[in-house]
Amino acid sequence: MEHLYDCIIIGGGPAGLSAGLYAARSKMDTLLIERAKYGGQITTTDELDNYPGSIENCTGASLSERMKKQALDFGVKFAKDEIVDLDIDGAIKVLKSKKETYRARTIIIATGANPRLSGFNNERKLRGRGISYCATCDADFFTDLDVAVVGGGDSAITEAIYLTKFASSVTVIHRRDALRATKSLQERAFNNPKIKFIWNSIVVGAVGDEILEGLILKNKITGENRKLKVDGCFVFVGYEPISQLFKGKLTMDDRNYIITDEDMKTNISGVFAAGDVREKSLRQVVTAAADGAIAATTAESYIEEK
Ligand code: NAP
Repeated sequence: MEHLYDCIIIGGGPAGLSAGLYAARSKMDTLLIERAKYGGQITTTDELDNYPGSIENCTGASLSERMKKQALDFGVKFAKDEIVDLDIDGAIKVLKSKKETYRARTIIIATGANPRLSGFNNERKLRGRGISYCATCDADFFTDLDVAVVGGGDSAITEAIYLTKFASSVTVIHRRDALRATKSLQERAFNNPKIKFIWNSIVVGAVGDEILEGLILKNKITGENRKLKVDGCFVFVGYEPISQLFKGKLTMDDRNYIITDEDMKTNISGVFAAGDVREKSLRQVVTAAADGAIAATTAESYIEEK
């Protein structure tokens, strides 16, 4: 018979690591399963200046490393694995990967979200050949070259500013005439001489056979198309929740974010969700970490009541 954990956390980003810390501190026998990189999306963020206390060159990677160490020190066990099937309706939750079956009294889903594709022609074909979704990973390849950033939210503007450390020019292409990003980020971008803006425009296609040579832009007001010669294109048009595995089992909104109450309870008892995978209004590291803490505390109360 497989080991029965008090709590299994799926996902090792800020929500999962924070849940692990709180669960282990309350002496729950806790396993955290992560299929890729601990830290999740924040590992691709160079500057992290809005997580309280993250000063003096705190990067996403350094913060997640410290979060992981803290959880480990309190006794969280870690497994590098990918859950592919589950049975979570009963009192014992069963999670299956290709090689293992895991069992737990409670589970916390902290699977996060993935970058969304913009949907223009050749986007998939030239992904990794000039088109990127991670500035921290790829900015270096574009040193002294011209790059474009697609999107007008916090991600697009944060990463556009970061890219100016490498590229000779950064052109932000936004589908409206006003940015969605926080005002302080907007100010920094508008004051950065390396950043230019193309407003009211969308990318309809990428040009290039083996490698990106340029973008075809469509002006939404005039309907005119133009070519923009760039060596790189970074797409930041939002995220999609990683919730496929739970479809048909958990209640979700129309964009597949898992619906929870304020205690992170889903519609199935003993199953909790935390962080970017759940339906909420502010997706930040600080709210993910808070969700994780609440989910673990609610999971502990659930076990006590049982
Ligand atoms: P977001 O806030 O949803 O912004 C997505 C941007 O992409 C919007 O400007 C949107 O335009 C545009 N867009 C969406 N679909 C598009 C398409 N098909 N073609 C062209 N443009 C498209 O996403 P995000 O910037 O990734 O941020 C996600 C969450 O993480 C937010 O809650 C954000 O605050 C948070 N975040 C925070 C920070 C930070 O605080 N430093 C950094 C990164 C992310 P419209 O504006 O017209 O809708």
